[in-house]
Amino acid sequence: MARRPVAPVKPIGMELVFFYPCPYCRRELPLVSPPQPAMITCDVCRQSFPIVPVDEYSVQFVKLMLADGPAAIDADYL
Ligand SMILES: [Zn+2]
Repeated sequence: MARRPVAPVKPIGMELVFFYPCPYCRRELPLVSPPQPAMITCDVCRQSFPIVPVDEYSVQFVKLMLADGPAAIDADYL
């Protein structure tokens, strides 16, 4: 059975990624909207450090503005 070409797929959801600089080696660690204070471990130098959480209402606001992704689609693909 021949495969039909698939139309480009649109996003149906989104997350916000925040970057936290490791205080030991300066690597910028990507985290998806951490809602709670936490200890994280750097994947480069293996040191742990505490992070400041993000306000989940701010994250919800941005997601709402972009309709959870679809409102950010490149206009050429609408
Ligand atoms: Zn590090």
